[in-house]
Amino acid sequence: MRRVYRDNGYQEVRGPQIMDRTLWERSGHWQNFKDSMFTTESETRDFAIKPMNCPGHILIFNSDLRSYRELPLRYGEFGACHRNEPSGALHGIMRVRAFTQDDGHIFCMPGHIRSECTDFNRIALAVYRDFGFTDVAIKIALRPEKRLGSDDQWDRAEAALREALAACGAEWTELPGEGAFYGPKIEYHLKDSIGRSWQCGTMQVDFQMPGRLGAEYVAEDNTRQVPVMLHRAIVGSLERFIGILIEHHAGAFPVWLAPIQAVVLTITDRQAPYARDVEARLKAAGFRVRADLRNEKITYKIREHSLQKLPVQLIVGDKEMEAKTVAVRTRSGEDLGAMTLESLIARLGDEVTARR
Ligand SMILES: [Zn+2]
Repeated sequence: MRRVYRDNGYQEVRGPQIMDRTLWERSGHWQNFKDSMFTTESETRDFAIKPMNCPGHILIFNSDLRSYRELPLRYGEFGACHRNEPSGALHGIMRVRAFTQDDGHIFCMPGHIRSECTDFNRIALAVYRDFGFTDVAIKIALRPEKRLGSDDQWDRAEAALREALAACGAEWTELPGEGAFYGPKIEYHLKDSIGRSWQCGTMQVDFQMPGRLGAEYVAEDNTRQVPVMLHRAIVGSLERFIGILIEHHAGAFPVWLAPIQAVVLTITDRQAPYARDVEARLKAAGFRVRADLRNEKITYKIREHSLQKLPVQLIVGDKEMEAKTVAVRTRSGEDLGAMTLESLIARLGDEVTARR
C-alpha cells in the first residue's frame, strides 16, 4: 500500500496523534462525535486523540501558502486512529478501538474531481485484484435530505462521480439519500470467497471541512479560494482488511502475501548448518523464511506447517545437503522435487512479482 501511494503521486505524511479541542470544535467532531473520542487534558487545555486523519491533513495543507499550480495535492497516511466504541461492539480484529487506515486526502479544484475519481477507481480495483477480490460492487451515495452546500455544487459533484466511473467503463448502482451531509461518495463493496460483502474503499467529495478549518489556495486570478477535499481509502481499516483477507483465503495466503513464505525443515541435526545457510540466502533474496531445526520427526514438522498453511516447505536431508539443493513441497502436499536455490529463488520471485 505504501508503494501504491508512492507510484500514484501521493506524499506519505503523518499527522499529529493528539490535537487541541478547538480544532475538533471547528471540524464539528467535538459536538457530534465526542462520546466516540478518547480525550485528555494538559495545562488546562482539552485534547482529543484523533478518531480520523482528515483534520491533521488540513493542518499540513495549511502549513504553507498554496497555489493553484500545486493542486491536486495528495497526502497519504497509514493513520493510527482511536475510537471509543462500546465494548459490546468490538469484534476480533474486525472491529477494534485502535486501528490504522490507509487514509488519503486530495486537495483540488472542482474541475479535478472527475479525473481524480477516475484515477482512484483504477488504483482501487488494481489493489483489490492483487488481493484476490474480483467481484467488486460499486455504489454512488447521493445527496441526503439534510445537507450543506448549494444544489449546484451537489449537481456538479454527483455528475463528476458518474462521469468518472463511466469513463472507466465501470458499472454502478446509486443510493439516493445516503451521501454524507458534506458531499456524495463512491463506495467499493468486495465479495469474499463465501459470498459475504464488505464495504472497504470510499472516495468522498467534501465541500465543507476545508473551509471550516481555514484551508485556501491562491487561484489563477489571485483570489483566495477554498479547495475541494477528497477523502479516500482503499482497504479502510488495515486490521479489518487483514481479517477479511484471512477469511477470503481461508488462511492459505498466496506466496506474495504470506507472513512466512517458506520454512526450511531438517530431517536430523546434521543438516542444521545447511538449513541455516538456506534460510540466510533466501532472506538475503528478500523472502520471509524461517528454519525449523527442532528435534522432531519430519512427518510431524510437515504436518504442522501444512496446518499453518505456509506456502512452501523446503526439506533438507543428507542428500539435499550434499547436492546443495532443497526438496520442495507445497502446502497442498504437492512434491515439486529437488531444486537448486537459484531456481527456487527465481520461481518464488515470479510468484511474488505476478502476485499469483
Ligand atoms: Zn478524511
